Amino acid sequence: MNNALTLKRLVCEHCGAELSGLSDCITFQCETCYRYFIITPEGLKDIAVYTAIGEEPYNKQSLHLPFWVIEIDRNLLRKEIEGSLSELKNHKSTIAKTRLEKDPEDETDSLSLNFHTGMEKLNIMASQRSIPGSREIEYLISTMESFESFFIYIPAFISRNPFAYLKVGKLLTGKQPPFKMEKSTLPGKPVMCALQQDEAVELIDFVFFATLPPSILKYGDFLNPISLKVSGAPRLVLFPFQKRKNSFFSLIGEFSISPRLVDIKN
Ligand SMILES: [Zn+2]
Repeated sequence: MNNALTLKRLVCEHCGAELSGLSDCITFQCETCYRYFIITPEGLKDIAVYTAIGEEPYNKQSLHLPFWVIEIDRNLLRKEIEGSLSELKNHKSTIAKTRLEKDPEDETDSLSLNFHTGMEKLNIMASQRSIPGSREIEYLISTMESFESFFIYIPAFISRNPFAYLKVGKLLTGKQPPFKMEKSTLPGKPVMCALQQDEAVELIDFVFFATLPPSILKYGDFLNPISLKVSGAPRLVLFPFQKRKNSFFSLIGEFSISPRLVDIKN
């Protein structure tokens, strides 16, 4: 049978030690050599895990939550914005060119002709799409270009709340906080990652659009054809949060989230 289920022991490809993990997580850390692995549909792969370092020092009360950090290609995005704009402008000029006047060569009686062209114009008008102004476009482009690189943050932790990815991803993406990153090689807790890299990439448009103000979001026809393109490989990064009374406070970007958005396994 080709599709027979095979059970394999999870062993570290580097040192051969058995990997033990937490339920729902797809990442493991070898307890002997501290390397990280991820289970993908193609099998077990080794993965680099990074830790984000902010200005405040990490302490024992901190909690590390994993995020996929995905850099986007701003040149391609700018092209898509321009493409979508010119498409909308072409559509608008088609409407302007459709006139109601009677063609003098036409023998049809004027009432039915007017009715016919009138209906045609109405149909085009009904599909009329609004175009964002230069101020909105300027905002969109300058938001991205004011940073050295532009990253989309997709939460990778376990959550029973379907909106958690959008809510928390939007906060970090909207802030584009500066931070340093170093490869984690120290013994510690396994990374609580529950989201595959491909699944994270599929969410980047949703999270990016969620960061935009309503003044731009109302131009659905303009935004619809736009989709972000990834630049470089997504990285799995641990972000430090501080457990507070009723919230988890992100030391990087300085914002709070509800602990209910995160399912922590110990
Ligand atoms: Zn190992």
